Amino acid sequence: MKVLVPVKRVIDYNVKARVKPDQSGVDLANVKMSMNPFDEISVEEAVRLKEAGTATEVVVVSIGPQQCQETLRTALAMGADRGILIKTDDKVEPLAVAKLLKAVVAEESPELVILGKQAIDDDSNQTGQMLAALLDWPQGTFANEVKVDGGKANVTREIDGGLQTVALDLPAIVTTDLRLNEPRYASLPNIMKAKKKPIDMKEIGDYGVDVAPRLTTVKVTEPPVREAGEIVEDVPTLVSKLKAKGAL
Ligand code: AMP
Repeated sequence: MKVLVPVKRVIDYNVKARVKPDQSGVDLANVKMSMNPFDEISVEEAVRLKEAGTATEVVVVSIGPQQCQETLRTALAMGADRGILIKTDDKVEPLAVAKLLKAVVAEESPELVILGKQAIDDDSNQTGQMLAALLDWPQGTFANEVKVDGGKANVTREIDGGLQTVALDLPAIVTTDLRLNEPRYASLPNIMKAKKKPIDMKEIGDYGVDVAPRLTTVKVTEPPVREAGEIVEDVPTLVSKLKAKGAL
């Protein structure tokens, strides 16, 4: 069974995002970029399926600038077998990503595509669902547990107020949630080995897909600054202040 894992290069989750002065977006100049954390979970899950003998090959794909090669190398160091970079310097919206991934699926014929539930830069939470719709494949989103057995994937999903288990006929789409697993750190020997693993270089033009943007970003703003707190002398003062504000 071949597993395809799309990995996105995003602003590192530890970095405090700065909005550009013209409010057109987030300033990415000289900012640390990393693999989307949910995609690390997807790579880990795919590699575990391979280690368990369920998967035979793990292919990782990234759409974005040349530097996405580093993201792919990280996935290869974690245990993926080979990478595909679809190079573009333009912003690619989730629908365009889903269309490109559909074309990659047509070439690669994976039985399972494992995506992150969302990319932490745009928080869209759309690509996996759109890809499932375009392929007309079953989907198990927000996966907390994935078990593949006899042509089926049993996916336990995190839903409001509990867990839901769905049985999907393969081929299928899975999107990963935070508690699915704890991704491994790539060891130094594996980082060295990953340098020799192949990465196929592609362009959007190779896939004949319409990636024209459908959305216009009107403006991006910082969240409102939190007002400073006040230290009161004793409990009666606190109670009277809360009453004055209508909180009690
Ligand atoms: P989103 O729908 O943008 O929140 O992204 C959900 C998931 O789709 C991510 O966790 C990735 O697995 C995948 N994805 C989105 N954009 C890209 C991209 N440019 N390259 C590769 N995978 C992507």
